[in-house]
Amino acid sequence: MKSKLSKKKVEELRKRLTRKPQLVWDVLGSGDKKRVFEFAERYKGFLDAAKTEREAVLAIEAFAKKTGFKDITKVRTRTGNKFYKINKHKNIALAVLGKDPIASGINLVVSHVDSPRLDLKQNPLYEEVDLVFLKTHYYGGIKKYQWLTRPLAIHGTVMKQDGSSLNMRIGESDNDPVFTIADILPHLARKIQADKKVSDAFEGEKLNVLAGSLPIGNDETKERFKLAVLEYLYSAYGLIEEDLMSAEIEIVPAGSARDVGWDRGLIGAYGQDDRVCAYASLEALCEVNRPARTAVAMFMDKEEIGSDGSTGAKSRFLEEFVADLVETTGQEAREKVLRSCLTKSKALSADVNAGLDPDFQEVHEKRNAARIGYGVCITKFTGSGGKYGSSDANAEYLAEIRKLFNDNKVVWQTGELGKVDEGGGGTIAKFLAIYGMEVLDCGTPILSMHSPFEIASKGDIYMTYKACTAFLNSK
Ligand code: MN
Ligand code: MN
Repeated sequence: MKSKLSKKKVEELRKRLTRKPQLVWDVLGSGDKKRVFEFAERYKGFLDAAKTEREAVLAIEAFAKKTGFKDITKVRTRTGNKFYKINKHKNIALAVLGKDPIASGINLVVSHVDSPRLDLKQNPLYEEVDLVFLKTHYYGGIKKYQWLTRPLAIHGTVMKQDGSSLNMRIGESDNDPVFTIADILPHLARKIQADKKVSDAFEGEKLNVLAGSLPIGNDETKERFKLAVLEYLYSAYGLIEEDLMSAEIEIVPAGSARDVGWDRGLIGAYGQDDRVCAYASLEALCEVNRPARTAVAMFMDKEEIGSDGSTGAKSRFLEEFVADLVETTGQEAREKVLRSCLTKSKALSADVNAGLDPDFQEVHEKRNAARIGYGVCITKFTGSGGKYGSSDANAEYLAEIRKLFNDNKVVWQTGELGKVDEGGGGTIAKFLAIYGMEVLDCGTPILSMHSPFEIASKGDIYMTYKACTAFLNSK
Protein backbone atom coordinates (compact mmCIF):
# COMPACT_ATOMS: atom_id res chain seq x y z
CA MET A 1 0.00 0.00 0.00
CA LYS A 2 1.08 3.50 -0.76
CA SER A 3 1.34 6.06 1.97
CA LYS A 4 -1.65 8.24 2.63
CA LEU A 5 -2.82 10.29 -0.35
CA SER A 6 -4.51 13.60 -0.04
CA LYS A 7 -8.25 13.75 -0.60
CA LYS A 8 -7.62 15.70 -3.79
CA LYS A 9 -5.19 13.08 -5.11
CA VAL A 10 -7.68 10.29 -4.45
CA GLU A 11 -10.35 12.19 -6.33
CA GLU A 12 -7.93 12.69 -9.21
CA LEU A 13 -7.16 8.98 -9.24
CA ARG A 14 -10.81 8.10 -9.29
CA LYS A 15 -11.44 10.43 -12.20
CA ARG A 16 -8.50 9.10 -14.17
CA LEU A 17 -8.91 5.39 -13.52
CA THR A 18 -12.59 4.59 -13.15
CA ARG A 19 -15.34 4.81 -15.72
CA LYS A 20 -18.45 6.60 -14.61
CA PRO A 21 -21.50 5.95 -16.79
CA GLN A 22 -22.72 9.13 -18.43
CA LEU A 23 -26.33 10.17 -18.43
CA VAL A 24 -27.22 11.49 -21.89
CA TRP A 25 -29.10 14.45 -20.39
CA ASP A 26 -26.00 15.54 -18.44
CA VAL A 27 -23.89 15.59 -21.58
CA LEU A 28 -26.24 17.36 -23.99
CA GLY A 29 -26.07 21.09 -24.55
CA SER A 30 -29.32 23.04 -24.85
CA GLY A 31 -29.16 23.04 -28.67
CA ASP A 32 -28.57 19.28 -28.63
CA LYS A 33 -31.67 18.72 -26.54
CA LYS A 34 -33.78 20.40 -29.21
CA ARG A 35 -32.26 18.10 -31.85
CA VAL A 36 -32.96 15.07 -29.66
CA PHE A 37 -36.63 15.99 -29.36
CA GLU A 38 -36.96 16.79 -33.06
CA PHE A 39 -35.42 13.45 -33.96
CA ALA A 40 -37.95 11.77 -31.64
CA GLU A 41 -40.84 13.40 -33.51
CA ARG A 42 -39.62 12.05 -36.85
CA TYR A 43 -39.07 8.65 -35.29
CA LYS A 44 -42.63 8.57 -33.90
CA GLY A 45 -43.91 9.28 -37.41
CA PHE A 46 -41.95 6.29 -38.67
CA LEU A 47 -43.32 4.05 -35.89
CA ASP A 48 -46.89 4.97 -36.85
CA ALA A 49 -46.31 4.45 -40.56
CA ALA A 50 -44.38 1.20 -40.19
CA LYS A 51 -46.08 -1.26 -37.86
CA THR A 52 -45.31 -4.30 -39.98
CA GLU A 53 -42.23 -5.36 -41.93
CA ARG A 54 -44.00 -4.65 -45.24
CA GLU A 55 -45.02 -1.17 -44.09
CA ALA A 56 -41.50 -0.55 -42.80
CA VAL A 57 -40.00 -1.48 -46.17
CA LEU A 58 -42.37 0.95 -47.92
CA ALA A 59 -41.58 3.74 -45.44
CA ILE A 60 -37.82 3.14 -45.74
CA GLU A 61 -38.03 3.11 -49.53
CA ALA A 62 -39.98 6.40 -49.55
CA PHE A 63 -37.46 8.00 -47.19
CA ALA A 64 -34.51 6.78 -49.26
CA LYS A 65 -36.03 7.92 -52.55
CA LYS A 66 -36.53 11.42 -51.15
CA THR A 67 -32.82 11.61 -50.38
CA GLY A 68 -31.72 10.45 -53.83
CA PHE A 69 -31.49 6.65 -53.60
CA LYS A 70 -32.30 4.61 -56.70
CA ASP A 71 -33.65 1.07 -57.03
CA ILE A 72 -30.58 -0.92 -58.07
CA THR A 73 -32.69 -3.35 -60.07
CA LYS A 74 -34.11 -0.52 -62.17
CA VAL A 75 -31.13 1.73 -62.94
CA ARG A 76 -30.02 1.72 -66.56
CA THR A 77 -27.04 4.01 -66.15
CA ARG A 78 -24.54 3.97 -63.34
CA THR A 79 -25.12 7.55 -62.34
CA GLY A 80 -25.23 8.36 -58.67
CA ASN A 81 -23.85 6.39 -55.80
CA LYS A 82 -26.92 5.75 -53.64
CA PHE A 83 -28.80 2.54 -54.27
CA TYR A 84 -31.37 0.33 -52.62
CA LYS A 85 -32.78 -3.13 -53.19
CA ILE A 86 -36.00 -4.67 -51.90
CA ASN A 87 -36.34 -8.36 -51.23
CA LYS A 88 -39.90 -9.73 -51.55
CA HIS A 89 -41.51 -6.63 -50.01
CA LYS A 90 -40.25 -7.51 -46.53
CA ASN A 91 -36.56 -6.80 -46.47
CA ILE A 92 -34.57 -3.86 -47.85
CA ALA A 93 -30.93 -2.76 -48.15
CA LEU A 94 -29.57 0.74 -48.78
CA ALA A 95 -26.03 1.66 -49.84
CA VAL A 96 -23.92 4.74 -50.35
CA LEU A 97 -20.96 3.76 -52.49
CA GLY A 98 -17.57 4.74 -51.11
CA LYS A 99 -14.34 5.82 -52.78
CA ASP A 100 -12.53 2.64 -51.74
CA PRO A 101 -13.10 -0.53 -53.76
CA ILE A 102 -15.93 -2.67 -52.43
CA ALA A 103 -13.49 -5.58 -52.12
CA SER A 104 -11.88 -3.74 -49.21
CA GLY A 105 -15.06 -4.17 -47.20
CA ILE A 106 -18.14 -2.20 -46.28
CA ASN A 107 -19.53 -0.60 -43.13
CA LEU A 108 -22.77 -2.41 -42.48
CA VAL A 109 -25.56 -1.68 -40.00
CA VAL A 110 -28.19 -4.41 -39.81
CA SER A 111 -31.46 -4.01 -37.93
CA HIS A 112 -34.77 -5.83 -38.22
CA VAL A 113 -38.26 -4.58 -39.03
CA ASP A 114 -40.43 -7.49 -37.89
CA SER A 115 -41.89 -7.42 -34.37
CA PRO A 116 -43.75 -9.85 -32.15
CA ARG A 117 -47.45 -9.92 -33.02
CA LEU A 118 -50.41 -12.15 -33.81
CA ASP A 119 -50.72 -13.48 -37.36
CA LEU A 120 -54.06 -14.61 -38.75
CA LYS A 121 -54.23 -18.31 -39.52
CA GLN A 122 -55.01 -19.30 -43.11
CA ASN A 123 -58.52 -20.34 -42.13
CA PRO A 124 -59.23 -17.56 -39.65
CA LEU A 125 -62.92 -16.78 -39.81
CA TYR A 126 -65.51 -18.54 -37.61
CA GLU A 127 -68.50 -17.80 -35.45
CA GLU A 128 -69.18 -18.90 -31.89
CA VAL A 129 -72.17 -18.03 -29.71
CA ASP A 130 -73.34 -15.53 -32.32
CA LEU A 131 -70.07 -13.59 -32.44
CA VAL A 132 -67.46 -13.65 -35.20
CA PHE A 133 -63.78 -14.32 -34.50
CA LEU A 134 -60.43 -14.59 -36.25
CA LYS A 135 -58.04 -17.42 -35.34
CA THR A 136 -54.45 -16.28 -34.76
CA HIS A 137 -51.01 -17.79 -34.34
CA TYR A 138 -48.58 -15.68 -32.36
CA TYR A 139 -45.30 -14.64 -33.98
CA GLY A 140 -42.19 -14.16 -31.87
CA GLY A 141 -41.86 -14.11 -28.10
CA ILE A 142 -44.93 -12.58 -26.47
CA LYS A 143 -46.47 -12.64 -23.01
CA LYS A 144 -49.91 -13.72 -24.19
CA TYR A 145 -51.95 -11.95 -21.50
CA GLN A 146 -50.62 -8.57 -22.67
CA TRP A 147 -52.68 -8.93 -25.84
CA LEU A 148 -56.06 -9.35 -24.16
CA THR A 149 -58.67 -6.62 -23.69
CA ARG A 150 -56.90 -3.93 -25.66
CA PRO A 151 -57.73 -2.26 -28.98
CA LEU A 152 -56.05 -4.08 -31.84
CA ALA A 153 -55.57 -3.15 -35.48
CA ILE A 154 -55.40 -5.28 -38.61
CA HIS A 155 -52.50 -4.66 -40.97
CA GLY A 156 -51.83 -6.94 -43.86
CA THR A 157 -51.65 -7.94 -47.46
CA VAL A 158 -54.08 -10.24 -49.23
CA MET A 159 -52.87 -11.85 -52.46
CA LYS A 160 -55.66 -12.85 -54.82
CA GLN A 161 -55.15 -15.72 -57.21
CA ASP A 162 -55.12 -13.38 -60.21
CA GLY A 163 -51.89 -11.91 -58.77
CA SER A 164 -53.45 -8.68 -57.60
CA SER A 165 -52.88 -7.63 -54.02
CA LEU A 166 -54.75 -5.68 -51.44
CA ASN A 167 -53.32 -3.85 -48.46
CA MET A 168 -55.37 -3.62 -45.29
CA ARG A 169 -54.89 -1.20 -42.44
CA ILE A 170 -57.88 -0.96 -40.12
CA GLY A 171 -57.98 0.36 -36.57
CA GLU A 172 -55.51 3.23 -36.70
CA SER A 173 -57.68 6.23 -37.58
CA ASP A 174 -60.18 7.60 -35.07
CA ASN A 175 -63.09 6.66 -37.34
CA ASP A 176 -61.94 3.08 -37.82
CA PRO A 177 -63.35 0.22 -35.80
CA VAL A 178 -60.81 -1.74 -33.77
CA PHE A 179 -60.58 -5.42 -32.89
CA THR A 180 -59.93 -7.09 -29.56
CA ILE A 181 -59.43 -10.32 -27.66
CA ALA A 182 -61.82 -10.81 -24.75
CA ASP A 183 -60.70 -12.09 -21.36
CA ILE A 184 -62.64 -13.89 -18.66
CA LEU A 185 -63.94 -11.76 -15.80
CA PRO A 186 -62.01 -12.05 -12.49
CA HIS A 187 -65.09 -13.47 -10.76
CA LEU A 188 -64.78 -16.65 -12.81
CA ALA A 189 -61.04 -16.74 -13.38
CA ARG A 190 -59.94 -18.57 -10.25
CA LYS A 191 -59.58 -22.11 -11.53
CA ILE A 192 -58.72 -21.39 -15.14
CA GLN A 193 -56.26 -18.55 -14.57
CA ALA A 194 -55.54 -17.34 -11.04
CA ASP A 195 -54.54 -20.74 -9.59
CA LYS A 196 -52.36 -21.65 -12.60
CA LYS A 197 -48.84 -20.85 -13.67
CA VAL A 198 -48.89 -17.83 -16.01
CA SER A 199 -47.52 -19.97 -18.85
CA ASP A 200 -50.48 -22.35 -18.46
CA ALA A 201 -53.12 -19.73 -17.70
CA PHE A 202 -53.10 -18.11 -21.12
CA GLU A 203 -53.41 -20.41 -24.10
CA GLY A 204 -52.23 -19.50 -27.58
CA GLU A 205 -55.31 -21.15 -29.02
CA LYS A 206 -57.52 -18.73 -27.10
CA LEU A 207 -56.02 -15.63 -28.71
CA ASN A 208 -59.09 -15.25 -30.91
CA VAL A 209 -59.84 -11.79 -32.23
CA LEU A 210 -63.40 -10.48 -31.96
CA ALA A 211 -64.41 -9.23 -35.41
CA GLY A 212 -68.19 -9.00 -35.71
CA SER A 213 -71.58 -9.33 -34.04
CA LEU A 214 -74.32 -8.52 -36.57
CA PRO A 215 -76.21 -11.26 -38.44
CA ILE A 216 -77.38 -11.47 -42.02
CA GLY A 217 -80.51 -13.23 -43.35
CA ASN A 218 -82.93 -14.80 -40.85
CA ASP A 219 -82.62 -17.33 -38.06
CA GLU A 220 -82.65 -20.18 -40.57
CA THR A 221 -79.53 -18.88 -42.32
CA LYS A 222 -76.50 -21.07 -41.55
CA GLU A 223 -73.54 -19.30 -39.93
CA ARG A 224 -75.25 -15.98 -40.46
CA PHE A 225 -72.78 -13.96 -38.38
CA LYS A 226 -69.73 -15.26 -40.22
CA LEU A 227 -71.57 -14.81 -43.51
CA ALA A 228 -72.28 -11.18 -42.61
CA VAL A 229 -68.54 -10.52 -42.19
CA LEU A 230 -67.79 -12.30 -45.48
CA GLU A 231 -70.46 -10.20 -47.17
CA TYR A 232 -68.78 -7.06 -45.76
CA LEU A 233 -65.31 -8.19 -46.90
CA TYR A 234 -66.67 -8.84 -50.38
CA SER A 235 -68.49 -5.54 -50.72
CA ALA A 236 -65.63 -3.49 -49.20
CA TYR A 237 -62.65 -5.29 -50.76
CA GLY A 238 -63.94 -7.85 -53.25
CA LEU A 239 -62.58 -10.62 -51.03
CA ILE A 240 -63.87 -14.17 -50.73
CA GLU A 241 -62.99 -16.58 -47.92
CA GLU A 242 -60.36 -18.42 -49.97
CA ASP A 243 -58.44 -15.13 -50.48
CA LEU A 244 -57.65 -15.13 -46.76
CA MET A 245 -55.70 -18.35 -47.29
CA SER A 246 -53.11 -16.51 -49.38
CA ALA A 247 -52.82 -13.55 -47.07
CA GLU A 248 -50.39 -12.23 -44.51
CA ILE A 249 -52.54 -10.41 -42.02
CA GLU A 250 -51.04 -9.20 -38.78
CA ILE A 251 -52.84 -8.16 -35.61
CA VAL A 252 -50.94 -5.35 -33.89
CA PRO A 253 -51.78 -2.95 -31.04
CA ALA A 254 -53.92 -0.06 -32.32
CA GLY A 255 -52.83 3.51 -31.77
CA SER A 256 -49.92 5.89 -32.24
CA ALA A 257 -46.54 6.25 -30.63
CA ARG A 258 -46.78 8.56 -27.60
CA ASP A 259 -44.57 10.60 -25.34
CA VAL A 260 -44.42 9.13 -21.85
CA GLY A 261 -44.11 11.15 -18.65
CA TRP A 262 -44.74 14.82 -17.75
CA ASP A 263 -41.38 15.78 -19.18
CA ARG A 264 -41.87 13.82 -22.44
CA GLY A 265 -38.42 12.25 -22.16
CA LEU A 266 -39.56 8.75 -23.15
CA ILE A 267 -41.41 7.24 -26.10
CA GLY A 268 -43.95 4.48 -25.69
CA ALA A 269 -44.97 2.49 -28.75
CA TYR A 270 -45.43 -0.92 -30.26
CA GLY A 271 -42.54 -2.33 -32.28
CA GLN A 272 -39.60 -0.25 -31.04
CA ASP A 273 -37.70 -3.56 -31.07
CA ASP A 274 -36.23 -3.02 -33.55
CA ARG A 275 -37.65 -0.04 -35.41
CA VAL A 276 -35.64 2.21 -33.14
CA CYS A 277 -32.39 0.90 -34.63
CA ALA A 278 -33.97 0.70 -38.08
CA TYR A 279 -34.93 4.37 -38.03
CA ALA A 280 -31.68 5.51 -36.42
CA SER A 281 -29.65 3.72 -39.09
CA LEU A 282 -31.97 4.92 -41.86
CA GLU A 283 -31.50 8.60 -41.05
CA ALA A 284 -27.79 8.07 -40.44
CA LEU A 285 -27.26 6.29 -43.75
CA CYS A 286 -29.26 8.77 -45.79
CA GLU A 287 -26.99 11.55 -44.51
CA VAL A 288 -23.75 9.78 -45.48
CA ASN A 289 -21.99 11.67 -48.24
CA ARG A 290 -19.06 10.40 -50.31
CA PRO A 291 -17.67 8.04 -47.66
CA ALA A 292 -14.32 6.28 -47.93
CA ARG A 293 -15.81 2.85 -47.28
CA THR A 294 -19.13 1.88 -48.81
CA ALA A 295 -21.87 2.38 -46.22
CA VAL A 296 -24.80 -0.05 -46.10
CA ALA A 297 -27.92 -0.27 -43.94
CA MET A 298 -29.96 -3.47 -44.07
CA PHE A 299 -33.38 -4.02 -42.62
CA MET A 300 -34.14 -7.67 -42.06
CA ASP A 301 -37.34 -9.63 -41.55
CA LYS A 302 -37.97 -12.82 -39.50
CA GLU A 303 -35.50 -11.94 -36.73
CA GLU A 304 -38.11 -12.59 -34.07
CA ILE A 305 -38.59 -16.18 -35.24
CA GLY A 306 -34.93 -17.08 -35.70
CA SER A 307 -33.99 -15.31 -38.97
CA ASP A 308 -35.05 -18.24 -41.14
CA GLY A 309 -36.89 -17.70 -44.41
CA SER A 310 -36.00 -15.94 -47.64
CA THR A 311 -36.31 -12.47 -46.10
CA GLY A 312 -34.41 -13.26 -42.91
CA ALA A 313 -30.75 -12.80 -42.05
CA LYS A 314 -29.97 -16.45 -42.86
CA SER A 315 -30.89 -15.83 -46.51
CA ARG A 316 -28.30 -14.81 -49.11
CA PHE A 317 -29.74 -11.35 -49.63
CA LEU A 318 -26.63 -9.58 -48.31
CA GLU A 319 -24.43 -11.46 -50.81
CA GLU A 320 -26.86 -10.64 -53.62
CA PHE A 321 -26.84 -6.97 -52.71
CA VAL A 322 -23.06 -6.77 -52.48
CA ALA A 323 -22.82 -8.46 -55.90
CA ASP A 324 -25.21 -5.85 -57.30
CA LEU A 325 -23.10 -3.07 -55.80
CA VAL A 326 -19.94 -4.48 -57.34
CA GLU A 327 -21.67 -4.60 -60.73
CA THR A 328 -22.69 -0.94 -60.49
CA THR A 329 -18.98 -0.08 -60.35
CA GLY A 330 -18.50 -1.79 -63.73
CA GLN A 331 -16.75 -4.80 -62.26
CA GLU A 332 -17.79 -8.41 -62.57
CA ALA A 333 -19.12 -9.74 -59.28
CA ARG A 334 -16.53 -12.51 -59.01
CA GLU A 335 -16.67 -14.76 -55.98
CA LYS A 336 -13.21 -13.64 -54.92
CA VAL A 337 -14.33 -10.01 -54.80
CA LEU A 338 -17.46 -10.84 -52.84
CA ARG A 339 -15.57 -13.01 -50.36
CA SER A 340 -12.97 -10.33 -49.88
CA CYS A 341 -15.65 -7.71 -49.32
CA LEU A 342 -17.59 -9.75 -46.79
CA THR A 343 -14.61 -10.87 -44.71
CA LYS A 344 -13.17 -7.36 -44.60
CA SER A 345 -16.47 -5.76 -43.70
CA LYS A 346 -17.38 -4.32 -40.35
CA ALA A 347 -20.88 -4.61 -38.95
CA LEU A 348 -23.09 -3.34 -36.21
CA SER A 349 -25.89 -5.75 -35.45
CA ALA A 350 -28.22 -2.94 -34.46
CA ASP A 351 -30.75 -4.32 -32.03
CA VAL A 352 -32.24 -3.33 -28.71
CA ASN A 353 -31.20 -4.59 -25.31
CA ALA A 354 -33.14 -4.75 -22.04
CA GLY A 355 -32.94 -1.67 -19.86
CA LEU A 356 -32.63 -2.24 -16.11
CA ASP A 357 -36.25 -2.57 -14.99
CA PRO A 358 -36.81 -0.71 -11.69
CA ASP A 359 -39.45 -3.20 -10.53
CA PHE A 360 -37.60 -6.35 -11.57
CA GLN A 361 -34.00 -5.52 -10.78
CA GLU A 362 -33.47 -9.06 -9.51
CA VAL A 363 -33.31 -10.54 -13.03
CA HIS A 364 -30.52 -8.16 -14.06
CA GLU A 365 -26.92 -8.12 -12.94
CA LYS A 366 -26.81 -4.45 -12.12
CA ARG A 367 -23.14 -3.86 -12.81
CA ASN A 368 -23.64 -5.13 -16.34
CA ALA A 369 -27.18 -4.11 -17.17
CA ALA A 370 -27.97 -1.34 -19.64
CA ARG A 371 -29.73 1.62 -18.07
CA ILE A 372 -32.37 3.86 -19.55
CA GLY A 373 -30.89 7.27 -20.30
CA TYR A 374 -27.25 6.19 -20.37
CA GLY A 375 -26.88 6.07 -24.13
CA VAL A 376 -26.58 3.46 -26.82
CA CYS A 377 -25.76 -0.01 -25.49
CA ILE A 378 -22.90 -2.16 -26.74
CA THR A 379 -23.44 -5.89 -26.18
CA LYS A 380 -20.31 -8.01 -26.60
CA PHE A 381 -22.19 -11.28 -26.51
CA THR A 382 -25.77 -12.50 -26.37
CA GLY A 383 -26.97 -16.10 -26.15
CA SER A 384 -28.02 -18.15 -23.14
CA GLY A 385 -26.42 -20.52 -20.64
CA GLY A 386 -22.68 -20.56 -21.27
CA LYS A 387 -22.99 -17.97 -24.06
CA TYR A 388 -24.56 -20.61 -26.34
CA GLY A 389 -25.73 -19.21 -29.65
CA SER A 390 -23.67 -16.04 -29.37
CA SER A 391 -21.15 -14.65 -31.83
CA ASP A 392 -19.15 -12.93 -29.02
CA ALA A 393 -17.44 -9.90 -30.59
CA ASN A 394 -13.64 -9.65 -30.68
CA ALA A 395 -11.87 -7.41 -28.17
CA GLU A 396 -9.93 -5.76 -31.02
CA TYR A 397 -13.19 -4.71 -32.66
CA LEU A 398 -14.73 -3.53 -29.40
CA ALA A 399 -11.70 -1.35 -28.80
CA GLU A 400 -12.07 0.14 -32.27
CA ILE A 401 -15.78 0.89 -31.82
CA ARG A 402 -15.20 2.24 -28.32
CA LYS A 403 -12.63 4.70 -29.67
CA LEU A 404 -14.92 5.65 -32.54
CA PHE A 405 -17.80 6.41 -30.18
CA ASN A 406 -15.58 8.35 -27.76
CA ASP A 407 -14.05 10.39 -30.60
CA ASN A 408 -17.53 11.24 -31.87
CA LYS A 409 -19.04 12.06 -28.46
CA VAL A 410 -21.50 9.18 -28.61
CA VAL A 411 -22.78 8.45 -25.09
CA TRP A 412 -22.50 4.67 -24.75
CA GLN A 413 -22.69 1.92 -22.19
CA THR A 414 -22.36 -1.83 -22.19
CA GLY A 415 -25.12 -4.25 -21.29
CA GLU A 416 -25.82 -7.93 -20.87
CA LEU A 417 -29.32 -9.36 -21.33
CA GLY A 418 -30.06 -10.37 -17.73
CA LYS A 419 -28.20 -12.35 -15.10
CA VAL A 420 -26.18 -15.43 -16.00
CA ASP A 421 -28.60 -18.35 -16.45
CA GLU A 422 -31.64 -16.10 -15.97
CA GLY A 423 -32.76 -16.56 -19.57
CA GLY A 424 -31.24 -15.00 -22.65
CA GLY A 425 -31.77 -14.25 -26.27
CA GLY A 426 -30.05 -13.84 -29.60
CA THR A 427 -29.69 -11.40 -32.46
CA ILE A 428 -28.63 -11.60 -36.08
CA ALA A 429 -24.97 -10.92 -35.19
CA LYS A 430 -24.06 -14.58 -35.59
CA PHE A 431 -25.46 -14.76 -39.11
CA LEU A 432 -23.17 -11.90 -40.15
CA ALA A 433 -20.20 -13.39 -38.30
CA ILE A 434 -20.41 -16.42 -40.62
CA TYR A 435 -18.66 -14.36 -43.31
CA GLY A 436 -15.74 -13.63 -41.04
CA MET A 437 -16.60 -9.97 -40.75
CA GLU A 438 -16.25 -8.11 -37.47
CA VAL A 439 -19.64 -7.72 -35.84
CA LEU A 440 -20.88 -6.19 -32.63
CA ASP A 441 -24.35 -5.89 -31.14
CA CYS A 442 -25.29 -2.32 -30.48
CA GLY A 443 -28.64 -0.65 -29.83
CA THR A 444 -31.11 1.15 -27.64
CA PRO A 445 -32.07 -0.05 -24.15
CA ILE A 446 -35.80 -0.76 -23.85
CA LEU A 447 -38.27 -1.28 -21.03
CA SER A 448 -41.21 -3.67 -21.52
CA MET A 449 -39.48 -5.25 -24.50
CA HIS A 450 -41.76 -7.40 -26.72
CA SER A 451 -44.86 -5.88 -25.13
CA PRO A 452 -47.56 -3.94 -27.01
CA PHE A 453 -46.11 -0.71 -25.56
CA GLU A 454 -42.32 -0.67 -25.41
CA ILE A 455 -40.50 2.23 -23.75
CA ALA A 456 -37.30 3.96 -24.86
CA SER A 457 -35.52 7.16 -23.83
CA LYS A 458 -35.33 9.93 -26.41
CA GLY A 459 -31.73 10.51 -25.32
CA ASP A 460 -30.78 6.87 -25.97
CA ILE A 461 -32.60 6.89 -29.31
CA TYR A 462 -30.62 9.93 -30.41
CA MET A 463 -27.35 8.33 -29.28
CA THR A 464 -28.24 5.25 -31.34
CA TYR A 465 -28.51 7.55 -34.36
CA LYS A 466 -25.20 9.23 -33.48
CA ALA A 467 -23.55 5.82 -33.10
CA CYS A 468 -24.81 4.75 -36.55
CA THR A 469 -23.60 8.03 -38.07
CA ALA A 470 -20.12 7.66 -36.58
CA PHE A 471 -19.90 4.03 -37.66
CA LEU A 472 -21.19 4.42 -41.20
CA ASN A 473 -18.77 7.28 -41.87
CA SER A 474 -15.74 5.56 -40.31
CA LYS A 475 -12.67 4.69 -42.37
MN1 MN B 1 -34.66 -7.19 -31.80
MN1 MN C 1 -37.03 -8.95 -30.25
